[in-house]
Amino acid sequence: MYTKDDFMNRIREMNPAETEYHQAVEEVMNHVIPFVNDNPDYGKAAILERICEPDRIISFRVTWMDDDKNVHVNRAWRVQFNNAIGPYKGGLRFHPTVNQGILKFLGFEQCFKNALTTLPMGGAKGGSNFDPKGKSNEEVFRFCQSFMAELHRHIGDERDIPAGDIGVGDREISYLFGNYKKINNIFEGTLTGKGVSFGGSPIRTEATGYGLVYFAQDMLNHHDNSMEGKTVLISGSGNVALYAAEKAIQSGLKVLTMSDSSGTIYDKDGITEEKLAYIKELKKVKRGRIHEYTDEYSCEYFDGGKPWHIPADLAFPCATENELNADDAQNLIDNGLMLLAEGANMPCTNEAVHLLKNADVLYGPGKASNAGGVSVSGLEISQNRQRMKWTAEKVDEKLYSIMKDIHEKCVEYGDNGNGIIDYSKGANIAGFVKLADAMLAYGP
Ligand code: GLU
Repeated sequence: MYTKDDFMNRIREMNPAETEYHQAVEEVMNHVIPFVNDNPDYGKAAILERICEPDRIISFRVTWMDDDKNVHVNRAWRVQFNNAIGPYKGGLRFHPTVNQGILKFLGFEQCFKNALTTLPMGGAKGGSNFDPKGKSNEEVFRFCQSFMAELHRHIGDERDIPAGDIGVGDREISYLFGNYKKINNIFEGTLTGKGVSFGGSPIRTEATGYGLVYFAQDMLNHHDNSMEGKTVLISGSGNVALYAAEKAIQSGLKVLTMSDSSGTIYDKDGITEEKLAYIKELKKVKRGRIHEYTDEYSCEYFDGGKPWHIPADLAFPCATENELNADDAQNLIDNGLMLLAEGANMPCTNEAVHLLKNADVLYGPGKASNAGGVSVSGLEISQNRQRMKWTAEKVDEKLYSIMKDIHEKCVEYGDNGNGIIDYSKGANIAGFVKLADAMLAYGP
């Protein structure tokens, strides 16, 4: 028999100071430990201990030169967490807050998320504490060149297939892929999120945001509800938030907010497709700040603020981890929130999740609700292997049906019989069972 307290004490001892990693493990163990105690075959061969220990962590120095010829040193990692069900797969994050603990939490989440997609992908994550914000294209290029000079020997389309995450978008993936191709003299699908003219998949850019809305739609439908006429708070203004907003508008939702690290816009009339086109241009092309929206359209702006004090029916946190705490959750509940689905990875603290669930708010955990991005990465791998490019319609249809399958898995394992699906229980157990079945089959 396992007890969660003993198990978590061991995790804390073995991974000192990695608080985000402890948080992610605890969130999973809330459901997996009771499941293993009820199904002792899954407690054999130290499966629980093994899934919490990365296969390996590669740590390396990245030296690069800025435009004024000053030399800088950053630290970078690739956490290859688990390849029981397929090659390592997961994004790269470039952000000053990146450290080993953050990448371990992200890699751990990725193992479960990738298992849920039904595609054969193991879990990994990587990145650096490099900040692309405010850097010239040339500086970002030189950083990517130096980063790939080391990373290339650890990845490959049968071994480990990175993609983007915060701070790693189309530009960075193109630079990284170009350098990989040059170093290895090989054109293979070793990174996903590539441009569509050089092996990328249609809909990959949109996939996380679209998939989030498809998943939220399934959550509502399953509980005899719909999106029509409802309001939604979205945080963030990166790829996930932008395309969640796009699909939300198309699905009949009124999008009230978007944000960046400087502040939040609150447009009571709703962000329309035309207004969203302005935000896309502002964020993706001009790399500007969200407050510039207020020069163009009348709306409220909260400096440095988050949107969680604003009344709405739904919430899609799409910015970053722990952006929504217990106070925020309480505000949302007091204002009548009915559903929260995570576009970011672990945007809610465990206390916030606890409050939301106790208040019967439908809660979609990121490892299920934001799995659309890595799912279309999986479809990009399939297209690369086939030397094919599918149509946007075909990829979108497949994304839609993958999100439906993930929803069904959550229902299968998360139905407590009280009329409200516990999606985090469902996602955690379904992901665990798939991983554990493979690991048990291999033997210790
Ligand atoms: N960074 C994304 C995630 O958190 C996508 C990873 C991928 O496509 O490999 O799932």
